[in-house]
Amino acid sequence: MPSSPHQSGQTDPPATPSSPPGNRNPTVDAPGAAVALRTGRCQCEYIVYQVQGAPDGPHLCSCRHETRISGGPAVLWLGFRKDGLTWTGPGGEPTWYATWPTLRRGFCPRCGTHLVSVADDSHMITVAGFSLDERSGTDPVGHSFRDEAAPWMTITLDDAPLAPQPASP
Ligand SMILES: [Zn+2]
Ligand SMILES: [Zn+2]
Repeated sequence: MPSSPHQSGQTDPPATPSSPPGNRNPTVDAPGAAVALRTGRCQCEYIVYQVQGAPDGPHLCSCRHETRISGGPAVLWLGFRKDGLTWTGPGGEPTWYATWPTLRRGFCPRCGTHLVSVADDSHMITVAGFSLDERSGTDPVGHSFRDEAAPWMTITLDDAPLAPQPASP
């Protein structure tokens, strides 16, 4: 068994399906919720994407995998529907690396920028928030793996909900 901070089926963010963006998002009144189409890119612009809808469950994560991958104390993750994301750069899709049998990370094969994370059994994809060109409405609502965060990091957010329930069926 590979070592994972996301054990017992727990992925980051949860693989629990949710309704389409805008239908239940708690940040629907945030300024950025009105942004229907956003763009994001890696540092060298070989991998570029467009993503539709309001970000779902923006949160920070300080798990061991993501602090190592990112080189930072936490990663800001934003959920979007998989079918709302299109790869538009010259490199097409990123290169994928599985950090867990059912969880893949996408990064630029040229500059190494870490861009997305996707669980096989989810229709959502999570995007590294700071890869977006425009981040309004992406303030995190929680912080996963707070207890693994660097001890000097001041944490002001609660735990991210591990399995948010849709507001309506
Ligand atoms: Zn790149
Ligand atoms: Zn994590």
